[in-house]
Amino acid sequence: MRGTLTRLARPLAVLALCLCATAAAAQDAKREITKIAGDLYRFQNNFHYSVFLVTPEGVIVTDPIDAEAAAWLKAEIASRFNQPIKYLVYSHDHRDHIAGGEVFADTATVVAHENARATILGEKRPTAVPDVTFSDKMTIELGGKTVHLLYLGPSHSDNLIVMHFPEERALFTVDFVSVKRLPYMNLSDSYFPDWIETIRRVEALDFDILVPGHGPLGTKADAADHGDYLQDLYDAVLAGARAGQSLEEMKAGIKLEKYKDWGRYAEWLPLNIEGVYQRISLQRRGN
Ligand SMILES: [Zn+2]
Repeated sequence: MRGTLTRLARPLAVLALCLCATAAAAQDAKREITKIAGDLYRFQNNFHYSVFLVTPEGVIVTDPIDAEAAAWLKAEIASRFNQPIKYLVYSHDHRDHIAGGEVFADTATVVAHENARATILGEKRPTAVPDVTFSDKMTIELGGKTVHLLYLGPSHSDNLIVMHFPEERALFTVDFVSVKRLPYMNLSDSYFPDWIETIRRVEALDFDILVPGHGPLGTKADAADHGDYLQDLYDAVLAGARAGQSLEEMKAGIKLEKYKDWGRYAEWLPLNIEGVYQRISLQRRGN
């Protein structure tokens, strides 16, 4: 009998420990809501950010980030604004931004780019499958407010959209443009030189506040700078490849000093070089 109790007690103790660890992890998450402009708010969950727009007829939310973050946001929106969530818009298919969409899907129409829906299904992303998709442009109007969803071409993924809030003069760019920070590591799931061209299209849009999915807010000039960085990176790696340099030689030789004060310069520049090198290697044929 004693042996039976011991065998039972140990899994219960382990279970209690796991529950405590989960609760501690949830408490540690940095979550915050800040106003961007007008009725547009920014939602932070640790290193990820999304935005939401409040109208008299309901709320338009964007990336849920993960199920716990989404549940927190849903409760905050209910208590602060007392409005139902009518739309959920995914920026692109990547799990770290769009997991947990099912938390909002009970009241919201789920919207994404058509390529995002295909990848969400194919990769079995842990989120709600989009109800409505589009190819180039879609406008959502709710409670007298507007958001334009724009697909500008392949960039970071083949389905990232930017969200333009004309009344707030803001553009949510997610992983497409960051502010004085290098793009993430080895640029997985990115398209060159298409990404550079799509950033030039952002510069033509009418907005003042640039809202990335990571890091601080910026301006339209930051979008131009990010485009310049990607162009300089691409040009340097292509020139190195045409000069017959190895990847290791390029990592040692390409410095792009103009950007040395940007975030993650030292850690991610060699990885950025590697990412562009891999793509260029598939796209060119030397003599
Ligand atoms: Zn991404």
